[in-house]
Amino acid sequence: MMETRLTIDKLLYRAEKYFPTKEVISRTENGMIRLTYEEFAKRTRSLASALQTLGVKRGDRVGTFAWNDHRHLEAYFAIPSMGAVLHTINIRLSSEHLAYIINNAEDKILLVDKGLYPLIENIIDKIPTVKAIIIMSEEAELPRTEEKHLYNYELLIATGDNSFLFPDDIGENEAAGLCYTSATTGNPKGVLSTHRSIVLHSMMLGLTDTMGLSEEDRAMHVVPMFHVNAWGFPFASVWFGTTQILPGPNFTSQTLLELIESERVTITAGVPTVWIGVLNELNRRSYDLSSLRYILCGGSAASKGLISSFMEKYNVPIMHAYGMTETGPVATVSKLKSYHQNLSAEEKINQLTKQGIPVPLIDVNVINESGEVKMDGEEMGEVLFRGPWITDHYYKKPEQTAEAIKEGWLYSGDIATIDDAGYIKIVDRTKDLIKSGGEWISSVQLENALMTHEAVFEAAVIAIPHPKWQERPVAFVVLHDNYKDKVTRDELLAYLAPQFAKWWLPDDILFIQEVPKTGVGKFLKRKLREEYENFFVK
Ligand code: ADP
Repeated sequence: MMETRLTIDKLLYRAEKYFPTKEVISRTENGMIRLTYEEFAKRTRSLASALQTLGVKRGDRVGTFAWNDHRHLEAYFAIPSMGAVLHTINIRLSSEHLAYIINNAEDKILLVDKGLYPLIENIIDKIPTVKAIIIMSEEAELPRTEEKHLYNYELLIATGDNSFLFPDDIGENEAAGLCYTSATTGNPKGVLSTHRSIVLHSMMLGLTDTMGLSEEDRAMHVVPMFHVNAWGFPFASVWFGTTQILPGPNFTSQTLLELIESERVTITAGVPTVWIGVLNELNRRSYDLSSLRYILCGGSAASKGLISSFMEKYNVPIMHAYGMTETGPVATVSKLKSYHQNLSAEEKINQLTKQGIPVPLIDVNVINESGEVKMDGEEMGEVLFRGPWITDHYYKKPEQTAEAIKEGWLYSGDIATIDDAGYIKIVDRTKDLIKSGGEWISSVQLENALMTHEAVFEAAVIAIPHPKWQERPVAFVVLHDNYKDKVTRDELLAYLAPQFAKWWLPDDILFIQEVPKTGVGKFLKRKLREEYENFFVK
């Protein structure tokens, strides 16, 4: 067979040739913008041409610092298609981490949303490799600033060649994207994706037994485009000619629901926190969700309550997926198998709260000191991955690479069980697991149980060093406003007691105002651990 290159320019080419009238719909501060794929492709080619004029060469890193909109999508295609590396930067990082990753990546140019520019301006003296900044805004104007090397996106692409030809010799194994882990556990680490890994991952998103993304869909990307390529949906959507809805800056649950209703969204994807907010808004007002085929939910565990509320109250299936920056990102997906259809409603939901089975081309193994765990849904081990969109190194970090990648497998740091149907269930992260007197306690299971109590809004359980037991669990609970000061620690402990072995129960439950979170809305347990490390040392 022929060996043709699996490169990103080909995804764009297919959209412009076969779906020129399909749309990219983008919510901006100045209202909705609708571009056809023909217009989108011309703007993308103009951007690549303008970047070339600014001196971008093969292999150079070009950073984006932006919300999900049409300009960000143009950058997604222009930068890798010209042979440069698209470095998507998390807009919620601290200044310190921001400067750290821009320097680690040695970004040459940054494309920055106008409203986010102050965050970059703050660190401008600390990022010497950046030679030019392109401000993305509707207006053809620049922010007031002393900075010399600023360009305006719209003015710049107007100078570009809209029939710019991409090089035809980019190798499929060349780097196309760079994304840093969100540092829940330490300094951000860079993960490079190749053209090949992105193309193969995109193809997977189109399989009926995974996401089944197709030309007929109207896909709304809620996962930030600065977070593992919005789980790959922007790339796959252009390739398939799917209509895309980009929710733009500072969206709320209401914005998302209005877009679902007005744009007849068929599929959308995001982290559980987003969908919990959407459920609250649905309790307040009704919206038409009849266009939705499913909601893809991942990034942290989708709870039973979340899945059943959407399914039972709104007739919208939640598809649960699991992965990480290092796994490109989608590695497993939880869909019922045909023979699961005979299960009771409750059993079906239980199955769907698991993280599922590997998508085609990805190998998963769950191991502990005794080897592969039994497929009994009980024995716990660490999840290992292998496959064409699993990273084989951290960018410029040989030590961390050696820790995480061994004998051709990526060690995820997640602890899971595996059931007789092959579905994995994440019970914790190695760093969050509580090791008490030589036994393991899952912080996640305790949290999930607490969060089913009607008074509990959020719960985080952490391991705190203990003089006798090595570590003991302590729970931190945020109560719903109407339950504040009305529920006691002992009531919550009594609620947990029948559900767990006695030694699993938290030694204490502390009420807090808010659980600290990472830039993408996950619990930042490290912060709690640091604050309370001396809890048992009196
Ligand atoms: P970081 O590793 O910096 O938190 P990622 O976004 O790459 O950033 O997070 C990946 C981690 O998120 C996984 O290792 C896992 O612990 C967790 N995760 C992702 N999806 C799920 C899911 N569906 N259920 C439970 N945990 C998940």
